[in-house]
Amino acid sequence: MPTPILHWFRRDLRLSDNLALHAAAQSVCPIIPVFIFDPALVTSSHVSVPRLAFLLRALTALDAALREQGSRLIIRMGDPRAVLPALIRDTGAEAIYLNRDYTPYALRRDAEIERLVGVPVHAYDDALLAAPGTVLSDAGKLPIVFTPFKRKWLPLPKTQPVPAPPRESWAQTLPPSDDLPTLASFDHSTSVALPKAGEAEALRRLNAFLDARVYAYGEGRNLLPAAPDDDTLGGSSFLSPYLRFGMLSPRQAYWGARAAYASIASEDGRTSVETWVSELVWREFYMHILHDYPHVLQRSFRPAYDAVQWRHAPDELDAWKHGMTGYPVVDAAMRQLRVMGWMPNRARMIVASFLTKDLLIDWRLGERHFIDWLIDGDPAANNGGWQWTAGTGTDAQPYFRIFNPLAQSQKFDPHGVYIRRWLPELRDVPDAHIHAPWEMRTPPADYPAPIVDHSAARERTLAAYQAVEKKP
Ligand SMILES: Cc1cc2nc3c(=O)[nH]c(=O)nc-3n(C[C@H](O)[C@H](O)[C@H](O)COP(=O)(O)OP(=O)(O)OC[C@H]3O[C@@H](n4cnc5c(N)ncnc54)[C@H](O)[C@@H]3O)c2cc1C
Repeated sequence: MPTPILHWFRRDLRLSDNLALHAAAQSVCPIIPVFIFDPALVTSSHVSVPRLAFLLRALTALDAALREQGSRLIIRMGDPRAVLPALIRDTGAEAIYLNRDYTPYALRRDAEIERLVGVPVHAYDDALLAAPGTVLSDAGKLPIVFTPFKRKWLPLPKTQPVPAPPRESWAQTLPPSDDLPTLASFDHSTSVALPKAGEAEALRRLNAFLDARVYAYGEGRNLLPAAPDDDTLGGSSFLSPYLRFGMLSPRQAYWGARAAYASIASEDGRTSVETWVSELVWREFYMHILHDYPHVLQRSFRPAYDAVQWRHAPDELDAWKHGMTGYPVVDAAMRQLRVMGWMPNRARMIVASFLTKDLLIDWRLGERHFIDWLIDGDPAANNGGWQWTAGTGTDAQPYFRIFNPLAQSQKFDPHGVYIRRWLPELRDVPDAHIHAPWEMRTPPADYPAPIVDHSAARERTLAAYQAVEKKP
């Protein structure tokens, strides 16, 4: 019997274009596919229940795809530092294959595991098109502003997608597996309406987007559609939950976009595809920033902004979290988050600006709420988005640029489609008042008055940030 090897799935829940899995298949040793539930992650009070529920769906889909190949997913519950050495002992596996995860926690854990397991650990840079340490300025440093980063990122050689392992790659003899847990087995339940998970669904969504909507992305990405699949309003790809768990690879997205670009002659269409690729670069940028500057998970990227005097306003924070601020576009987005575990980028910027600039509440509280609810919640992108909006981050939006929620609403949801979709109590409000129902002679009784006056709040925030800027 040839000696088996383990492929340890983490944030790479797919069979096609999986660099570590592909390399494992090249080794011609039979592959045992493993997923480990680390109790430190799934039972902690910090777990995001919607994201855990989506992960469980993704694992069910991965297991089904493996069964089609005559294999199945081996599930283990426990600390990987204990589970992996035991699995190696029980199976006689001679190596572990995995794709790198760049969060500080994962980097620490993987370094420990490499020391513990006593067999080679083959690690691959699969989650990014350009690995940390490869995007360098002329001075040999990571560019910490997005545009120079992108300029250096674009010309780097990009790996082509690789095929799924052939059927004969999978081990015939598999160790026992724990049952795939259910959400209830962790004492959790969620009201979030989850999308279908899995690699096939991710590819279907990618192809549907690249067939048509990507060519209108330049304009469509900022409009707030009633739902992400609403073709009439353009919108974005809704691929973030799939990229988050690696049901789709960034190479599949990037090379798909390159093919879309080549197949369209119109200037606008091509510019739209380029804009979409830029979004993939933002994803890479924030992972590089987190990798090189892990302090961002606790503090401002630029330390001076740690001195901003944030307000302690638990009632206002609560109104924001529940979509009860009295600003319809903010409330619609915050309610969408609770229903879908997702919201469009424009909505994220609007609500993040509202929390940090209108309410002057610490961006970390908003970051935490997003991480609790988002099914695409990712430490790097989420932190980057919050620090960008708060003006404390890398490519800082100057703090004096403060989103006006009313103007944003009028511009990006001109007919109130988005607002009415998520705020049923405003469904009958006419277009003329949909962005500012407080101006109606008789405002809807079941909708709150604004909890803050935007103009006054703007002045308060400018003063708070200026106080920091003036410090020696
Ligand atoms: C405050 C705030 C918090 C955010 N939190 C997250 C998060 O936890 N997870 C997350 O994936 N994205 C986050 N984003 C980025 C962005 O809002 C989402 O990636 C995007 O809305 C996902 O929708 P989509 O897949 O339709 O994106 P598309 O517009 O179709 O973009 C394609 C892909 O590019 C990536 N991407 C797009 N914009 C960004 C961006 N600004 N930063 C990083 N990657 C980007 C995503 O992987 C996305 O799926 C956040 C943005 C803000 C302002």
